[in-house]
Amino acid sequence: MPIYEYRCDDCGHELEALQKMSDVPRTECPACGEPTLKKLISAAGFRLKGGGWYETDFKNGKKKNLHDAGKKESTPPCAKTGSCPAAK
Ligand SMILES: [Zn+2]
Repeated sequence: MPIYEYRCDDCGHELEALQKMSDVPRTECPACGEPTLKKLISAAGFRLKGGGWYETDFKNGKKKNLHDAGKKESTPPCAKTGSCPAAK
């Protein structure tokens, strides 16, 4: 499962979230409550967690599969910040 990084346009709050491809992207900032959260495509989370694929790649003209980008990461960043969707 890929990790998405988000940044709030309004207050600059950043978070990481483990989400399935089928999950709707988050839009509401947990810090200020504004619906100004933006997904960061080039997030470090993808390089850490990788796993092979993510569907948003084509928008940037990159390859769909990034197998070699997936490196091992024992602790998901979202676990440190408590922002894992599974926790809700
Ligand atoms: Zn915010």
